[in-house]
Amino acid sequence: MSETARVVVVGGGIWGCSIAYHLARAGVSDVLVLERRELASGNTSQAAGLVGQLRASELMARSIMTVVDRLTRWQAEHGEDSGFRQVGSLKLALTDARVRELEAQVAQACGWGLAVELVAPRDAQARVPLLETNGVKACAWIPTDGYAEPYTLAMALARAARRLGVRMRTQTPVTGITLSRGRSTPTSMRSTRGPSDRDAAPIALVTCIPCAARPAPSSGPACKRRWRGARDTRRGGFRAAGASARAGRGRCRRRRDR
Ligand SMILES: Cc1cc2nc3c(=O)[nH]c(=O)nc-3n(C[C@H](O)[C@H](O)[C@H](O)COP(=O)(O)OP(=O)(O)OC[C@H]3O[C@@H](n4cnc5c(N)ncnc54)[C@H](O)[C@@H]3O)c2cc1C
Repeated sequence: MSETARVVVVGGGIWGCSIAYHLARAGVSDVLVLERRELASGNTSQAAGLVGQLRASELMARSIMTVVDRLTRWQAEHGEDSGFRQVGSLKLALTDARVRELEAQVAQACGWGLAVELVAPRDAQARVPLLETNGVKACAWIPTDGYAEPYTLAMALARAARRLGVRMRTQTPVTGITLSRGRSTPTSMRSTRGPSDRDAAPIALVTCIPCAARPAPSSGPACKRRWRGARDTRRGGFRAAGASARAGRGRCRRRRDR
């Protein structure tokens, strides 16, 4: 059986579901998610789900502020619970060096528009009575932080994506990605239904076009590490080898088909 899609997202964890949803929301049609097991069965189901906006990098801080903004409006927009609980969070400093770092982070974050304040340890304890404040030198209180139950959120994203037309195939491991000769963008993927591709014949051939959700790494050390050695010489293509492909930004370094 073969199937085509404009965009293929490999992996139905919270990232895959979110990428698929946001692509569809941005108007990209014909998006397909391939998940080797069940949706949110990987790291996502293990996560504590803390959503903290106080970050050292402006990009990270603003990204998570956008996430929080979207999550707080989710119920009104989609008519269902996202799993997000906006209970606030505390960041504690136990050493003088950490106090200076925290103060600098708070000043920076205020400039980026985050509601955050330094509070005395006794005020922190008033918010969290079980908190042991001995040795705590400074605290930052971020009232709009919270936690998201990761499985609930991933499923909410998956349902929202499906409502926008995204197709999701579970029990469908990607076992190979083929690049066309002379090009660095994937043109097809091999996939089988079942936990192993050893005995099963490929059943899905998906035609991709280069676009936002390239199933290939961007140029970061983690991406290179993840994909290094992933070339499957028997097939002359790429073996997915447990990698979950995400929306790649920037330049990509990929190995050519041989
Ligand atoms: C103990 C723990 C606590 C954490 N706490 C937090 C926290 O408090 N806050 C926070 O923000 N983050 C936290 N994280 C991190 C968070 O869980 C991950 O960043 C997030 O779940 C990653 O999502 P993902 O979709 O990239 O990966 P995953 O959820 O692992 O999804 C990847 C999916 O790809 C599928 N897949 C892999 N290979 C293939 C293939 N070849 N074909 C098809 N499908 C494939 C897998 O089956 C899997 O479902 C925590 C993680 C752990 C382990």
